[in-house]
Amino acid sequence: MNAPDRAGIRPAADIDMSSWWMPFTANRQFKARPRIISGAKGMYYYTPEGREVIDASAGLWCVNAGHGRQEITDAVSRQLAELDYAPGFNMGHPLAFQFASRLVEVAPAGFDKVFFTNSGSESVDTALKIALAYHRARGEGHRTRLIGRERGYHGVGFGGMSVGGMVANRRMFANSLLPHVDHLPHTHDPSRNAFSRGLPEHGGIEFADALERLVALHGDTIAAVIVEPVACSTGALVPPRGYMERLRAICDRHGILLIFDEVITGFGRLGTPFASQYFGVEPDLFTTAKGITNGAVPLGAVFMKGAIHDALMTGPEAMIELFHGYTYSGHPVACAAGLATLDIYQREKLLTRGASLEKEWEDALHSLRDCPNVVDIRNLGIIGAIELAPREGGEVSRAYEAMVGLFEAGVLMRYTGDTLALSPPLILESEHIGRIVDTTRKVLSGIS
Ligand code: PLP
Repeated sequence: MNAPDRAGIRPAADIDMSSWWMPFTANRQFKARPRIISGAKGMYYYTPEGREVIDASAGLWCVNAGHGRQEITDAVSRQLAELDYAPGFNMGHPLAFQFASRLVEVAPAGFDKVFFTNSGSESVDTALKIALAYHRARGEGHRTRLIGRERGYHGVGFGGMSVGGMVANRRMFANSLLPHVDHLPHTHDPSRNAFSRGLPEHGGIEFADALERLVALHGDTIAAVIVEPVACSTGALVPPRGYMERLRAICDRHGILLIFDEVITGFGRLGTPFASQYFGVEPDLFTTAKGITNGAVPLGAVFMKGAIHDALMTGPEAMIELFHGYTYSGHPVACAAGLATLDIYQREKLLTRGASLEKEWEDALHSLRDCPNVVDIRNLGIIGAIELAPREGGEVSRAYEAMVGLFEAGVLMRYTGDTLALSPPLILESEHIGRIVDTTRKVLSGIS
């Protein structure tokens, strides 16, 4: 694919950066030494100066079919011309129904209801609210407690932040988080599982047993447990083999709903359409966003088993069953982008392509084991993480430095704490894997 036309692109130095307060960014540091992206095609981003940067993060874990897909552009422009917006409250338009039906077709069997949102954070808060409403509708309104996991990330709404376990995200708001929330321990145990390939084999299943202890503490007040199948935002923490099965069994034993947050793992990231299929463990609800439109237009969706939805369909027909929704739930333009995205995923078999690349991806990543300061490498599907040692005195700065060095050397990679996180578009080929790994080796070799 050719680089996009650069006509009209302003050089980075000409951009006034004073007004935009950037999200999850050290604004002053960034603006002193900015990294600007102004175009994208296929596996590559382009800077205003025309420099090619290979995308090893699929944007922010979302551009699974690669950048600049013409089909999505066409579908979005057609839809904007035909119906730019339609309300979703007490009014419907064909595309939202059509997209929901298509999504149900690609979801694991039994997940036959979909609620539309605009983001991962909204999907998480929606799923938590549906779980609470479900119990209440069945006469178990005492189930109000939500369980998350240390080092989990479930977005930035008050619900997601409360069940989330990222210390820095919670610190500033600690006194204002939801009550009735508790957390499972995280599953990362480098003392036993460092340099695991795929699912860690050397123990950790007992981290799931902590749920039994929470049930003992809180009795039958627990409504739902929410976990990411792979905790990506804190450095791709892969759960040990057997952990998910154990968590499911304990939830079943105690009438607790299990929610998978598939905002990252959904839409092919693990080489299966959804992570539940990779693990062979079914949640009761799962959240999605990001890859659902290939990142092109904001959209999220919560999938649920029919029984969850049906439990709320018992009152008078004239009664609104769930007092919840967003102005842009099922936005026609987002649905058009989503339908075009699903067409691409299905035609190019991208929802399962990761499975055939997983071994090559794993071998390539683990070849970096001998680079300076590397203390762990993890992988699952087309996700990877390279963890670096902190500096003397515990200073966590090597991964940030590596991210900057990589961008300058032509690779876009995420970093979190001391970990570099990789999740390239699922269209990647061997040549891209080689380029990502070779550049990473060079950059890591230059960091003391
Ligand atoms: N849940 C998970 C697992 C995520 O990784 C993210 C974002 O990275 C979110 C929720 C929040 O999604 P958003 O940023 O679209 O609100």
